[in-house]
Amino acid sequence: MPSPDTSPPLHALSPEAALDRLETSASGLSTAEAAGRQARHGANLLPEPAQRTPALRFLRQFHNVLIYVLLGSAVVTAALHHWVDTGVILAVVLINAVIGFVQEGRAEDAMAAIRRMLAPRASVLRDGKRQSLDVAGLVPGDIVLVEPGALVPADLRLLDAHALKVQEAVLTGESVPVEKTAAPVAEDCALGDRSSMLHSGTMIAAGTGTAVVTATGPATQIGQISGMLARVETVQTPLLVQMDRFARWLTAVILAVGAVLLAYGSFVRHLPFGDLFMAIVGLSVAAIPEGLPAVLTITLAVGVRTMARRNAIVRQLPAIETLGSVSVICSDKTGTLTRNVMTVASLAASGQLYSVDGEGYAPEGGVLWHDSQVSPEEHAVLAEFALAAALCNDALLRDTDTGWQVEGDPMEGALMALAGKITGAGPAPFRQWRRTDAIPFDAAHRYMATLHHDHEGHACLHVKGAPEAVIALCRDERRDGGGIAPLDREHWQAMVERLAAEGQRVLAVAQRAMPPEKTVLNKTDLDGQLTLIGLVGLIDPPRPEAIAAVAECRGAGIRVKMITGDHAATARAIGREIGLQNVAQVLTGAEIEAMDDAALAAAVYETDIFARTSPAHKLRLVTALQSHGLTVAMTGDGVNDAPALKRADAGIAMGLTGSEAAKQAAAVVLADDNFASIVAAVREGRTVYDNIKKVISWTLPTSTGEAMTVVVALFAGMALPITPVQILWVNLITAGTLGLALAFEPPEEGTMRRAPRPRTEPLLSGTLVWHIALVSTLFLAAVFGMYFHAIARGQPVALAQTTAMNTMVILEIFHLFFIRNIHGTSLTLKAARGTPVIWACVLIVAGAQCAITYLPAMQSIFHTAPVPFADGLLAFGIGIVFLVLLEGEKQLRRRKA
Ligand code: ATP
Repeated sequence: MPSPDTSPPLHALSPEAALDRLETSASGLSTAEAAGRQARHGANLLPEPAQRTPALRFLRQFHNVLIYVLLGSAVVTAALHHWVDTGVILAVVLINAVIGFVQEGRAEDAMAAIRRMLAPRASVLRDGKRQSLDVAGLVPGDIVLVEPGALVPADLRLLDAHALKVQEAVLTGESVPVEKTAAPVAEDCALGDRSSMLHSGTMIAAGTGTAVVTATGPATQIGQISGMLARVETVQTPLLVQMDRFARWLTAVILAVGAVLLAYGSFVRHLPFGDLFMAIVGLSVAAIPEGLPAVLTITLAVGVRTMARRNAIVRQLPAIETLGSVSVICSDKTGTLTRNVMTVASLAASGQLYSVDGEGYAPEGGVLWHDSQVSPEEHAVLAEFALAAALCNDALLRDTDTGWQVEGDPMEGALMALAGKITGAGPAPFRQWRRTDAIPFDAAHRYMATLHHDHEGHACLHVKGAPEAVIALCRDERRDGGGIAPLDREHWQAMVERLAAEGQRVLAVAQRAMPPEKTVLNKTDLDGQLTLIGLVGLIDPPRPEAIAAVAECRGAGIRVKMITGDHAATARAIGREIGLQNVAQVLTGAEIEAMDDAALAAAVYETDIFARTSPAHKLRLVTALQSHGLTVAMTGDGVNDAPALKRADAGIAMGLTGSEAAKQAAAVVLADDNFASIVAAVREGRTVYDNIKKVISWTLPTSTGEAMTVVVALFAGMALPITPVQILWVNLITAGTLGLALAFEPPEEGTMRRAPRPRTEPLLSGTLVWHIALVSTLFLAAVFGMYFHAIARGQPVALAQTTAMNTMVILEIFHLFFIRNIHGTSLTLKAARGTPVIWACVLIVAGAQCAITYLPAMQSIFHTAPVPFADGLLAFGIGIVFLVLLEGEKQLRRRKA
């Protein structure tokens, strides 16, 4: 290879010279050669943003107000020679840091796994065949096919381009898409002017093209701009930010209260400083919800992982919260509600209606006319259908171990199969034709056109597309026997309606003979100059699981709306099959365009089917739905869907068929493009929100109850019913177990039979405040009650304190069982059975409590005494009464509401 320093740069070379320089050809590299080059050049990956080292992450856990308070307390207790207290405080600090470290690591791992799942793919020619590869596998010399919405996977030199426009803002800051062609440009031109090059990380805005890889990974232009990508994602959502702020605010208040109490105890009550100080420390640790942010992060991370397992990959974490409150889902039809497994079922030529049999994409089967098989020799129009279907087509059929597979658009795959069925010899008869130019499919004009030449110098133009679009371009139609007749628009219109009403997707195909010297295709070549061959009807059955999911949405108060580029009658037939609520009314793109925003907002609420829409309509539909205060989830796949996906409350992109542009605009990516996965994600979103609520509803009353015990005792001027070190212990044992258990709660029964939660619903509601007051009062009553009951019977203070501490822990466990069912009831056998996680946590806590109560070594450290069995039983009984009281109050409140 000549040295790059002395020869012209690739952008200044002709495509052929560029191929030579890169030692490749237009049909691509062989797999073996690519493997060799990969070994030399490395994977096509950009350097990962620098990760924080584990040591740094661990140290960060100490950067926390509570920890500062605790460390300060450890110094003070050490100065007072209260060594046991110092030891316990330091243990609390250390264990807190370890728990925080592990939890944060797990959350980050979950996000990293998700990033890996979203690795983009590219269409590449290898061994002369088109394949879809992970972009990491690209090497210099690979031939890449680019299409609208794709992310440019490496630095590329264009070989050919059709109306190609690229959004290069990431590289040049230029927000308007720039045009690209294969023509060489001046050697010394600036990056932004190298119109023959595509740069890694930029986005194809429109058009198609073929290009050769010139540089990969760190050698690309974007790879050389370091620092640009050093963005470390953290697990954060509005709810978490809100809770974080709340926790900080609460900490400040608690510290202020502690300071006041310290002053009050020393100057008014003249209590010994050492004991008083420890009591305040115990109070602060009990009251500050230090573990809350970490547990909430875990709750979200668990949600992210569960959703990923159900094929919904969350790109933006706030989407988890939004998904739980979704009240409308706007879904594409093809591939999401239907299977996107297309088969041609009928052909309509003038005067004749044929049916087509055969399964899947196998180019085997036949065409039937009046129930008997016919051949192109008898019905010449079939040969024309076959030629148009095979040439005006970008898909490829491949015979694999698992049957015939399509590389490319499934609808085009079905057309390829049709061509094979008609000729009976696969695509072989069409090999003599070479494509010279094309107008790619675009949802705006809804057709695709190709120009082909054969060896004898014949040229032909083929067009396929939505019938209205294609028929509008036609001058006449093909008649039986090869003649030409004026176009009978009414007949075709009726035919389209007839096929569409059966749920078939209808395409029209047309042709025109072209002068051989013509090699460039313009739209003017089509206008009013085509001869219609006929209609092709394709079936694409609904996904059975989508039908079930639509029904589930109905129960969950979520309205499902279908937005499709397909014909109104086809859309209605499919809408009926999948069980949409209102199939009587269909709004078309043209009608949407005729409406102003107010009229659209009025119409959009009751309409469930939108047909012949283009991506621009989606944006207006989202806005119109949002004007009703609805929380809208919207699916999309194309490059032009990006604005609607961004605008929707939850933008959902298709992982299999979606463009990179759509994925980057979306908050969620569906790994399987399946509507049922959206509904599963909504269910999980509701569960995560519930669990967040549960974690908070368990933590706040519990810590308030613990803290109030100290406050009341201090103000009453009595001995503490639980010693400060014991309070530290309880906090240490329960916060990392019982509180965390709720992060793993499965969905409550009936999660999808409730109406969506209003998005404005505050997390810290009046009900929660009331619950905190009620629970902490009951805690106080039980703890003090048990303490005085023991003292009254002449038991030593240490034993009374141990009983009181155990009572508190028992109540916390019962509170956990209560909180698990905020929507249902806790007094059922199923509720009592719990989950393995719950029981594991309960067992750990019970074991720890037995140890501190009955192990002599622990007794001497924590000043505890063995609690008699009868008192233990009494505490358990109090727990049951506590649960029944809370449940009774909940049911009463619910009945009143
Ligand atoms: P949905 O919106 O339900 O997912 P879609 O995205 O396939 O459907 P569009 O891609 O907008 O809808 O297609 C609209 C119409 O354009 C189709 O009904 C079909 O008639 C026509 N069409 C789609 N793809 C092609 C293609 N590759 N070549 C020619 N015409 C096409």
